[in-house]
Amino acid sequence: MNFELSTDQKLLVETVRAFVQKESPPGRLRSLRSDALGFSRDLWRKMGELGWLALPFPERFGGLEQSFVEVSLVLEQLGAGLVPEPYLGAIVFAGGLLAEAGTDAQREQWLAPLATGESLLAVAHAERGSRFEPSSVATTATATGDGYVLRGEKHFVLWGNAADAFIVSARTAGATHEARGVSLFLVPKAAAGLRVDALATTDGHRAARLTFDGAHVARDAVVGSVDDGVRPLSLAIDRATAGASAEAVGVMREALNLTVAYLGTREQFGVKIGTFQALQHRAVDMFIETELARSMAMLAALRAESKDDEERVRAVSAAKAHVAASGRFVTAQAIQLHGGIGISDEHDIGLYFKRMHALATLFGDEEHHLARFAARKAFATLET
Ligand SMILES: Cc1cc2nc3c(=O)[nH]c(=O)nc-3n(C[C@H](O)[C@H](O)[C@H](O)COP(=O)(O)OP(=O)(O)OC[C@H]3O[C@@H](n4cnc5c(N)ncnc54)[C@H](O)[C@@H]3O)c2cc1C
Repeated sequence: MNFELSTDQKLLVETVRAFVQKESPPGRLRSLRSDALGFSRDLWRKMGELGWLALPFPERFGGLEQSFVEVSLVLEQLGAGLVPEPYLGAIVFAGGLLAEAGTDAQREQWLAPLATGESLLAVAHAERGSRFEPSSVATTATATGDGYVLRGEKHFVLWGNAADAFIVSARTAGATHEARGVSLFLVPKAAAGLRVDALATTDGHRAARLTFDGAHVARDAVVGSVDDGVRPLSLAIDRATAGASAEAVGVMREALNLTVAYLGTREQFGVKIGTFQALQHRAVDMFIETELARSMAMLAALRAESKDDEERVRAVSAAKAHVAASGRFVTAQAIQLHGGIGISDEHDIGLYFKRMHALATLFGDEEHHLARFAARKAFATLET
């Protein structure tokens, strides 16, 4: 398989890299931790002007209809700079879900303003105890004469503090863990009976908890088919998981770069500590893990849009399981090699560690994806 980037892809990478270095050095995340919104709407709109927010969407809804590889190249660079703007949550996850499952009217209303950075969408699917399973939904949507009434709680809605509307999974039939009976609804932030509580996450990002207490939505708020929401939601989660893996690779590469630079600067016993072979071995292990993770994430990006469940799930879960483990290893080694300053809040390396920690868990941790991979048919056949 040829992993060589095309000229256009290389240009995209260079443009995003230069933009990130100029507009959003890693320390910017530290100062945004005390900001109520947690990112900059101006910078987000600039990213929209450059076309990056439109990359995955169909042309007829204002998108550039690029492949998931382009999207993952952008994410890798955003990861390297710890850029907090909600590309993964709003564009890849929420936008991707609406682009795939929404009606033409919903896509017309939401995708163009999403692609220019004018409005934000978020997916609200996780619940207390749902453990990364999209079918584990206890929130209910009860049909009324002209629409649905929603009751329940959604947790960890990425950048839900800033979203103008939410794509919410709720049960229209069946029992809590059944795949059939889950429907998706587009719910505006201003809906009566919806409470949005913003919260800060360990990595300096924002999320929200949503409480639906009899929130009413019209019949045309349904995204996709009634009772059939798990399939598009699972596909969107797979793409977002591949995206999180790409972003994590950027985090790992930059954590390694910072560490190698430090080993070449810090002196102890009269020499640069990078001259010690024991530390060189550690840096080499970090490099190998990062390169392996990059190859796995690249394969996941190539398979992320495949409708062949077997092919897609295996590539995405293998990448995420690997990235979660190797990402924790690389960033933990980075902290160690920075000595005492690695754990101080003033040093950027700790911000990389925290972002990696969040990405490792997002959309399923190592254990979850190993189990999901192992349960696939092809793997089970090998074992018997
Ligand atoms: C992960 C990690 C890795 C590390 N790696 C290294 C390493 O490679 N090499 C190395 O040399 N060190 C290393 N350290 C140790 C680190 O450098 C020490 O924590 C640091 O030297 C102590 O400085 P401090 O300012 O934090 O000390 P403090 O915690 O402020 O104080 C140190 C001592 O001074 C005393 N003290 C503080 N203020 C006063 C005062 N006003 N009057 C009297 N006594 C006082 C304290 O009671 C304490 O005993 C590492 C630490 C960590 C956590």
